[in-house]
Amino acid sequence: MSQYDVDLFVIGAGSGGVRAARIASGYGARVAVAEEYRIGGTCVIRGCVPKKLLVYASRFPDGFEDSAGFGWSFPAEPTFSWAALIAAKDKEIARLSGLYEQNLAKAGVAIHRQRAVVAGPNAVRLADGTEITAERILVAAGGGPTVGDFPGAELAISSNEAFDLAELPEKIVIAGGGYIAIEFAGVFAGLGSQVTLVHRGEKLLRGFDEDLRDEVKAGLEKRGVIVRLNERIASIAAGEGGSKRVSLASGETLDADQAMLAIGRAPHVGGLGLEAAGVRLNEKGAVEVDAFSQTSAPSIYAVGDVTDRMNLTPVAIREGHAFADTVYGGRPTTVDLSNVPTAVFATPELGTVGLTEAEAREKGEVDIYKTRFRSMKATLSGRDEKVLMKLVVDAATTKVLGVHIVGEDAAEMIQVAGIAVKMGATKADFDATVALHPSAAEELVTLRQKWTG
Ligand code: FAD
Repeated sequence: MSQYDVDLFVIGAGSGGVRAARIASGYGARVAVAEEYRIGGTCVIRGCVPKKLLVYASRFPDGFEDSAGFGWSFPAEPTFSWAALIAAKDKEIARLSGLYEQNLAKAGVAIHRQRAVVAGPNAVRLADGTEITAERILVAAGGGPTVGDFPGAELAISSNEAFDLAELPEKIVIAGGGYIAIEFAGVFAGLGSQVTLVHRGEKLLRGFDEDLRDEVKAGLEKRGVIVRLNERIASIAAGEGGSKRVSLASGETLDADQAMLAIGRAPHVGGLGLEAAGVRLNEKGAVEVDAFSQTSAPSIYAVGDVTDRMNLTPVAIREGHAFADTVYGGRPTTVDLSNVPTAVFATPELGTVGLTEAEAREKGEVDIYKTRFRSMKATLSGRDEKVLMKLVVDAATTKVLGVHIVGEDAAEMIQVAGIAVKMGATKADFDATVALHPSAAEELVTLRQKWTG
């Protein structure tokens, strides 16, 4: 009989924590998990899932518009209810959270619905004062939005609140140039808000392929988003009736119903007791781990956003699973974070896998294959928008190093293209694949000419 109350105590029932708890329990470990907010974590409650539901909602106006070219007309203007959307979203999120909870319970994991902190290398303390000893602790506490450091920053909302606004803002100012800022800009603009996106950088979406960055900005602007680059919010003051006066560094003032900050996210490490237990944090304040997610305190592990490796749900899930396989399944497993496909659910959408053109050029000679074309749907709808597809190919080996797409269903396409890139497919493998006609994706296998600029 173990000297500890449990074999594994997991802090945080989000993507990484839930997966680790269930798999470890399946291997026979006695597992407990603590969750201070809602089971499911960021992705389910206020991240990927509600975000994508809102993205779907925001795209219907494009569909209504496009349908005219295909013979549709509406007897009246379609109307939209924010309240109905949020209620439907809440119902779905509650269902998913319930499923996560059921699955944990079915796996025999004990659930503590309160905050837990590390009380030592082998102990956690719950908010109600209970101390639980554990042979190992897994920190899966995720991260949260960075707050602004300018006057009135507390008047701004973050993505957390954006999912639950009582009303759709008529005007909103969003600060940030990353995927969360862009996705919300697209959502609010699609639903009819007047959106100003303020970003301190020269371009949106740092780290993405340059062509994609330009294309996404153009797409936002086509949908009415005012994009202000090289600009930042200097202060926010309360206006009349709950409105906000947003002053920009350039001196301009914008009046809006809401101001939203999506300027970054930081690991949830505050007050967790990590350093006292011997857990080292890195220079960015994230939990430092080795390839097996073990921290500098050998009995304490960490997975997901709290480690700031690649802050995506499928990555957190894999890290949680690999931890359980390694420690309880007798199968040491690391997670390969190369060629992870990702998307930005802007409208039009961005999908990307592998190296950007700039990254690939740093490593050696590359050939670029690129096309911008009008989709078949756009011929009748008349929508003035192109699809962009780009292959980054190693000139020496002809291996496809990166695939980048902006256009409808780019995320769906890139998930599948990602398999080929992961397998090390060459340009000749792409060419040998017969096109599926008529589709947009067929362009990926019919790119004949090298791009010469
Ligand atoms: P989380 O899911 O954040 O879970 C951590 C949990 O720990 C939380 O429930 C928290 O309440 C709990 N917790 C924290 N501290 C304690 C404590 N001391 N005691 C008890 N409980 C505690 N990723 C994608 O892959 N695709 C997307 O499209 C996508 N969209 C996103 C959109 C938004 C707006 C946001 C914010 C994120 C998005 N992400 C997306 C990122 C994704 O949500 C995260 O990468 C993922 O949730 C990380 O999982 P995790 O297990 O590390 O942490």
